[in-house]
Amino acid sequence: MPDQPDELEVRLASVRSSIADACAQAGRDPSAITTVVVTKFQPASLVRELHHLGVRDFGENRHQDAAPKAAELHGLELTWHFVGQLQSKKARQVRQYATVIHSLDRESLVDALSAQGDPVDVFVQLDLSGEPGRGGIRDDELETFAERVLGADGLRLLGLMAVAPLGADARESFARVRTASERLQALAPEATALSMGMSGDYREAILEGATHLRIGTAITGNRPQGG
Ligand SMILES: *Cc1c(COP(=O)(O)O)cnc(C)c1O
Repeated sequence: MPDQPDELEVRLASVRSSIADACAQAGRDPSAITTVVVTKFQPASLVRELHHLGVRDFGENRHQDAAPKAAELHGLELTWHFVGQLQSKKARQVRQYATVIHSLDRESLVDALSAQGDPVDVFVQLDLSGEPGRGGIRDDELETFAERVLGADGLRLLGLMAVAPLGADARESFARVRTASERLQALAPEATALSMGMSGDYREAILEGATHLRIGTAITGNRPQGG
């Protein structure tokens, strides 16, 4: 059974109020934070309900699910954020509907996304887990990789994205991203954005300077399958 819209509205309001509390604690302005509602595994109808409740930024992590949703909802004024691992061969297709790509982590992907014309906004994903295959570049690759992104046509580097590793202290993890961001800004002063914080750790992320939260289940409720 899909959730009743009123439950959705309650969860959305509750997350918004927690965001406001964390901002107050951090002395930050909530309007400087973009909340991306991650709707992976959720039907297009849920995106429509959230849109009706004023949400405009939506996140998806798989091209094969995102593309039909984007097509079905074409005409609604909204911004798609691609937050999952992205294969180079899908990159051009994702670029057609996604305004922001949060998971740039390979040179082949830079090449595949690079194009003349309207730039696409990107975050470089930083791996905090130290485990290969989790997505993200290693900390010691940051400068080299950033130079590569900055030199590519059609990519506008917004900043860094990261996922706090399971079991790690979220606040400490996000502090590492903030430190890496200072190094990035030495090369790219405009690239100040920080995409970090999910349902379980967005408060900590706000305290460490997150500008883009990627929140799924705390707002949508449990994912129907597999997510
Ligand atoms: C699923 C996902 C999220 C949202 O996760 P929740 O725990 O449901 O908030 C955020 N970021 C990425 C990269 C994801 O894949």
